Amino acid sequence: MSDECIGDGKVVTFHYTLTDDQGTQIESSVGQEPLVYLHGAGNIVTGLETALQDRVVGDRVEVIVPPEEGYGVRDERGVQTVARSQFPPDADLEPGTQFGVKGPDGQLYPCWVQQASDEQVTIDFNHPLAGENLHFAVTVEGIREASDEEKEHGHVHQPGHEHEH
Ligand code: ZN
Repeated sequence: MSDECIGDGKVVTFHYTLTDDQGTQIESSVGQEPLVYLHGAGNIVTGLETALQDRVVGDRVEVIVPPEEGYGVRDERGVQTVARSQFPPDADLEPGTQFGVKGPDGQLYPCWVQQASDEQVTIDFNHPLAGENLHFAVTVEGIREASDEEKEHGHVHQPGHEHEH
């Protein structure tokens, strides 16, 4: 099935390098395991998912994803300062550490430590890449049809990659 192309319900394997507007590398899968995702399920940022539509194995895709189709625009109201005592004494509060805060609706919202002192901790609900243009260079490595169970769950099931449901 070498003529298979990327569309909804396909499991796609790809390598990527992500750089910012200055050309500085932010992340890369090169030299590590490629990324695997279920197309059409919102597993990856919208702008990249759109750019990969209809591509085939071996395609090299370069795309600049604006914040609106990436990790969102920055909202300064998302920056909050809370008392250090709200965290367990042994909590890792290094800048950049991610954790989840349960909202009134019971949903878990991701946030990141911006800075921490003995008295207070500044947390940021904006994704660290919010407000950034994302420059992706992607190579499509593999495409397969998702199983019914994967389609139902909206994510990929990989042997050896356990996940919670
Ligand atoms: Zn599942």
